[in-house]
Order: sequence, then structure tokens, then C-alpha cells
Amino acid sequence: MSTTTHFSTLAVHAGEEKRKPYGALTTPVVQTSTYTFADTAEILAFMQHKAEREAIRQAGGDMPVRDEYGRYSNPTQSAAERKLAALEGGDAQKTRALLFASGMAAITHTVLALLQNGDHMIMVCGGYRRTIEFAQTVLPRWGIAATLLDVDRLDQLAETIRPNTRLILAETPTNPYLRVIDLARLAETAHANGILTAIDATFATPINLRPLQWGIDLVIHSASKYLGGHNDLLAGVVVGAHTLLNPIETLRGLFGSIADPQTAYLLIRGLKTLELRVQRQNENARRVAEWLTQHPKVARVYYPGLPDHPDHEVAKRQMSGFGGVVSFEIAGGRERTSRFVDALQLPYIGPTLGGVESIVQQQALFISLNEPDRRAAGISDTLVRYALGIENVEDILADLERALAQI
Ligand SMILES: *Cc1c(COP(=O)(O)O)cnc(C)c1O
Repeated sequence: MSTTTHFSTLAVHAGEEKRKPYGALTTPVVQTSTYTFADTAEILAFMQHKAEREAIRQAGGDMPVRDEYGRYSNPTQSAAERKLAALEGGDAQKTRALLFASGMAAITHTVLALLQNGDHMIMVCGGYRRTIEFAQTVLPRWGIAATLLDVDRLDQLAETIRPNTRLILAETPTNPYLRVIDLARLAETAHANGILTAIDATFATPINLRPLQWGIDLVIHSASKYLGGHNDLLAGVVVGAHTLLNPIETLRGLFGSIADPQTAYLLIRGLKTLELRVQRQNENARRVAEWLTQHPKVARVYYPGLPDHPDHEVAKRQMSGFGGVVSFEIAGGRERTSRFVDALQLPYIGPTLGGVESIVQQQALFISLNEPDRRAAGISDTLVRYALGIENVEDILADLERALAQI
């Protein structure tokens, strides 16, 4: 697959052997906890090979080694990782991916592997609430300080950097206001200060954004969202250079948070249609965003594809699609917004996104019953997040129109 760079071809073929066991077309689910050795000689050869690999890894490279135990690797999971690395479009020789049991596992392992006691990290917010919770409640206990920097204060990034700052972690687009961060600028400031950059690009997918191409060091996704795409798996991935991923992989083996083979299979299957799904979701979201701006009962629409979005210019330059999520505010109050959500018939109500089914949520209801907390998180009572699925947009719009007419 080295001669082709077209996304859908890579999504279908990259990472998988052309010739698979039994002549099967699909990559098998290798449902095993361990791998066995024929005899002592095979163990000794394996240990020798492993020692050579370790030396190469210390020098920042990597080489394949046969599978030893399921907590370290599995052929199905390795195929998913090779596919994910190819999709992020990094240097094929230097880039690899690590699969985890969830997006949160990918984020927490990355931070804990790269930072140590005494280090400082900057998190650009809005961010996924659990990531912020991890930074605020877990990291201090490990002696790692984290500063939250609002997207609107990104011009103060240089002043926020301390001598011990090692990592900048950001999300783009953010949840739920879909703010888009200028990655080239972020990478430039970080690298001028010898700081690593990691981007949670879950909302963008590699179809709409390839952070490595803008100079970012590590890309993280919750594969539970668009990459899996069918609301039937939990997984996470980190993509970047061997040198950075090797210590993260070591930690994954120690913490035991690898994705299981069945999940890896479902992810491979989901990835094959990623481009088709995301293109449709981009298009559905754009149509819905434009339609909502015209509606008198909608007070405000947040979508990076709209010219009045604060980051529209950055998004246009940096992304090849604006994503499948639209956030908007219903004119009126909290109850009226709830009535609108309840009147919708087509989408499911729930807290995730990225699958083939449309999902809607009144953000404030999922945060806390404690109103000051919600205000602090900047979530208004009337905010609705609509994560578009792949349904026909005319049906989605008709459903929206019907629901808005009822409030
Ligand atoms: C869902 C999500 C996560 C967490 O991923 P899980 O797979 O649920 O652990 C992290 N970041 C973003 C932006 C998400 O949407």
C-alpha cells in the first residue's frame, strides 16, 4: 500500500495482510490469551530477538517481534494499529499506532508515560470533561501540575509555559462549541520551547484533519466514536513516532489496557467505511447547521462550517470537512429545550457521537444537577448537541421542523 495515498483505499486495505490464514478475506479474530513455543530453542531465539528489539527501541526505532502474551499484543489488534497509523498519514517508517481499551485509556497512558513527578502540562479547554477531571484530580497526586488554558486565551500560550512544561494537550474541534485550534501555531510555539504536543482529534477524524501534517507530535482518538462508527465498541488510539510511543506501549503492557481482539476486529470493519460515513455526516451537519440558522425558534448555532463561527477561517484552512456535530441553542429556557429534545423522533437521546445513528442531547442535563458547576463549564441550559448519523438529511430536517413546531 506504499504507492497509494488515497484515503478510502488505505481504509479498506492498509494494515492487513493480503494473504490471510485459510485464504480468508477478512482478518481473523485471533481469540487467544497467549502464544506457545514449539521447544526450548524457539524460546531462546525469541528472547534473543526481543533483546535486539529492545536495543533498537532504545535508539528510537522498532522491529516486529512475534506475539508473546495477549496483554502485550495480538495479531488482530496489530492489524488495526497498522491501519490507524496509515490513516493518520505520518511517515510510514516512523509512525505507528497503539490501540487501547478506551479513549480515556489512550489519553491517560499518554500523559503518564510522557510526564513524571515535577513536570507541568498545559491543557487547552474546552476539553472532554473526563480528561479535565483526570488532570485536576489524578495528576496532582503523581506530582504533575496541569494548567487549563481557555481556547479564547490561546494567544497567552507562551506566557503559560513554565520551565518544566513538557506537554500541551488540546482537542479540536472542542465539545460542545466546536472551537477549532490553529495547530501549526500551537506546534510552533510548543516546539520553540521543546514541548511535546498531543491532540485529541476525536471530533475531526483523520478524514477531516491530520494533525501530524501540521507538526503535532501525537494524535489521540476515542475510537468508540467515528472510527468504530457503529456505537458497538469502546477503544482508543494514539498515533505518533516510535520514539514517543515506545514508553506508552510499555505502560500499556504494565497497566493491562490493550483492546481485545474482538474489539480490534470490529474497529477494522468500521474503519473500512470511515470515509463514506464521515463524508455523509459532514454533509448532514452542514445542511442541518444552515437550516437551523434560519429558524426563529433557534437562538444560536455553533458549527465551524458557518461563516460566523469564531474559528471558521482556521477550520477552512486546516480541515477538509467541518465534522458531523452541530450545537445550537433553543430560544427560551431549559424546559422548552427539553420539550424540543423529547419531541424529536428520529435521533436517539444519549451522550455519545460518531456512529451511524443520529444522537442528540441537552448538554446541561448530562453534567450535574448542581447549577453553578454547569455555569462554570460554560454550558447553557438551552444548549443542544446534535451528532449527525448517516440517515437521509431530508428526514432529519423534517423531524427537526416537526419538533420545533411543537414548542
Ligand atoms: C468520548 C471521548 C473521549 C473518551 O473516549 P472513550 O472511548 O469514551 O473512553 C475522549 N475525548 C473525546 C473528545 C471524546 O469525545
